[in-house]
Amino acid sequence: MLRDTLKKLLSVYGPSGNEHAVAETVKSLIAAHVDNMRVDAMGNLIVEKYGADENGKRILFSAHMDHIGFIVTDIDENGFLRVHNVGGVSPRISSARHVVFENGTEGVLYCQPLKGEEMAMKHLFIDIGAESRQEAEQYVLPGDMAVYAPDYFELGDHRMASPAMDDRCCCALLCELMMYLDEPKNTVIGVFSSQEEVGIRGAKTAAYSVNPDMGVGLDVTAWGDTPEVKLPAIQLGKGAAVKFMDRSMIATPAVRDALLQAAADAGVPVQREVLPFGGQDGSAIQHTRSGVPAGCLSIPCRYVHSPAEVIDLRDLEGALRILLKFVENV
Ligand SMILES: [Zn+2]
Repeated sequence: MLRDTLKKLLSVYGPSGNEHAVAETVKSLIAAHVDNMRVDAMGNLIVEKYGADENGKRILFSAHMDHIGFIVTDIDENGFLRVHNVGGVSPRISSARHVVFENGTEGVLYCQPLKGEEMAMKHLFIDIGAESRQEAEQYVLPGDMAVYAPDYFELGDHRMASPAMDDRCCCALLCELMMYLDEPKNTVIGVFSSQEEVGIRGAKTAAYSVNPDMGVGLDVTAWGDTPEVKLPAIQLGKGAAVKFMDRSMIATPAVRDALLQAAADAGVPVQREVLPFGGQDGSAIQHTRSGVPAGCLSIPCRYVHSPAEVIDLRDLEGALRILLKFVENV
């Protein structure tokens, strides 16, 4: 079930460049449902389900495994860790947070007094309970990464919050797609990509190596339905969103329209997304080699890049039905 798959994936440590535990979890979930799985040098997990029709297309879907975090830059003589952001972290919402390292070391991320300056990453530090540099170094070294402590909780009947919703919700979607595909005529390739949050790096090499006939990025998008937030014109619970444009791509009309058609055929509500900022794996697919027709299906998500990113599971379930129809229609 989508909800259970999602919960498993939300619990796993995986900042950019350290996605191996997420890849292992995905493998364990879908090994029985795909024909081929491999992890490449960038840490992308690439899975393939062969199509029955030898003249069928090769369709790539990409969802990123990594999420934002903090990398230790220095440890002071009193055992406090200085950090830099990994991906788009807002210093303003990072203070007074529970954070965790890969080895299980826990800490409190906090902000020093600002003295009139605007808050920046250089003002943040992590307190892991150590009383000296020597003691801290027994647990953490410069280069280690921390993430907001893994968590998820349900809001109302349909919604869920987690610091890793971006983009584990789409990893769950892609897992379920591979599970539900029943002898497709087209070959379906799933890329669980690395390092999206630091510049769409994993999908770039994965798309080149897969060399697909078309591709779709799967990612969260922003929201316009909370107090004083009106744009983008995207609402939670009103369906997945077919992207027209963001800062990384203008969706290929044929792919965009095929996604809209698949939603109509599946009888699932869908929204039209124009995002004035942001980027996602679809752009890496579109720009690989001599160009590949590509689009993006987005899950509306409130409070993106915060410790409580919220989605509506009805949008995710609708997205699964859209993708199944899309693969069938191509
Ligand atoms: Zn994302």
